Amino acid sequence: MGKNYTIGIIKGDGIGPEIVNETIKVLDALSANMGFNLEYIEMLLGGSAIDKMGVPLPNATIENVKRCDAVLFGAIGGPKWDNLKRELRPESGLLALRKKMGTFANLRPAIVYDELVNASTLKPEIVKGVDIMVVRELTGGIYFGQPRELLEDKAYNTMIYTKDEVRQIAKVAFEIAMKRRKKVCSVDKANVLEVSQFWREEVIRVAKDYPEVKLTHMYVDNASMQLIREPKQFDVILTGNIFGDILSDAASMLSGSIGLLPSASIGHGIGLYEPIHGSAPDIAGQGIANPLATISSASMMFKYALNEEEASIKIDNAIKKSLAQGYRTADLGSFDAKKICSCSEIGDIIANYVSK
Ligand code: NAD
Repeated sequence: MGKNYTIGIIKGDGIGPEIVNETIKVLDALSANMGFNLEYIEMLLGGSAIDKMGVPLPNATIENVKRCDAVLFGAIGGPKWDNLKRELRPESGLLALRKKMGTFANLRPAIVYDELVNASTLKPEIVKGVDIMVVRELTGGIYFGQPRELLEDKAYNTMIYTKDEVRQIAKVAFEIAMKRRKKVCSVDKANVLEVSQFWREEVIRVAKDYPEVKLTHMYVDNASMQLIREPKQFDVILTGNIFGDILSDAASMLSGSIGLLPSASIGHGIGLYEPIHGSAPDIAGQGIANPLATISSASMMFKYALNEEEASIKIDNAIKKSLAQGYRTADLGSFDAKKICSCSEIGDIIANYVSK
């Protein structure tokens, strides 16, 4: 009898249900093959929660998350809910959920698949082989620091990091580096900001517990340039909230399509695994969305939440194989495609590969 895992499923809005349904197809095929059991608990969040329950984050969702080993999430939002007050909008539900789950670390891989090197806006020789993990601090820094105020003649925010906040995010980065190429580049602005100087000193202290990992430091302005100039120099990038927000978006574009990239928000408890893109209302319901970012997020879930490394590798290999065979959704269409597939055809192909 294999292990049992309880997976929270939040399909969300727009293309959310389409891409999550394909991911469940893959999970079912994988669990049948790998000998573990997956139980799903479906929950509401965002626009669909507003429509059914009147709020973007229903209490039932908060309670159900506690019963899960991990939560797989599609995307939320859309024009239908854009005119609501800020606290009633779909995005408020997601921010509140992340806070309740205590997910202080955002992991954003930027991978360039060999088969898609031509899909990047950069030259193939620059991006071929890129495999970066951006580890961004998610619940501290200038986005949350007090005091903050918008006045008539001035406005200000506060960038604060405590020792504990820096230590806990640094540990996540070093642990991940140990499973990768054992390099951490900590990005800050220590030449100008005291808070960055503090960040740097604390990261150096944490590094002492990981002698095998090579730690380097880079100012954020240089890092943004180096990401475009020579992205292959990076393994794990460790950085604070605002710098990570900007750098992870820049890094994600190395790969060529937003429809490919996964993310994980993790902390002390349950993690949230989700594609980096939004609910794509412009293509919702057409069956043409790329489900690979969500399927890849499920791979991260197996690796980081469930410790099922083999399942994670199986999914990653299936994605690579489907791309190598020339199967593409429309967003990748023109790049060396042999067949333009629907969202559900890609789901079928990946499910078939992982079941072998
Ligand atoms: P978006 O990421 O939804 O879409 C940007 C562009 O990329 C669109 O042209 C879309 O068609 C395309 N795209 C995105 N994902 C794709 C996929 N899997 N396959 C093929 N093409 C894909 O960003 P947006 O248009 O700025 O936002 C739309 C809605 O999503 C907004 O309501 C926004 O608030 C919300 N949003 C939600 C999240 C989230 O749930 N985590 C994140 C970002 C945006």
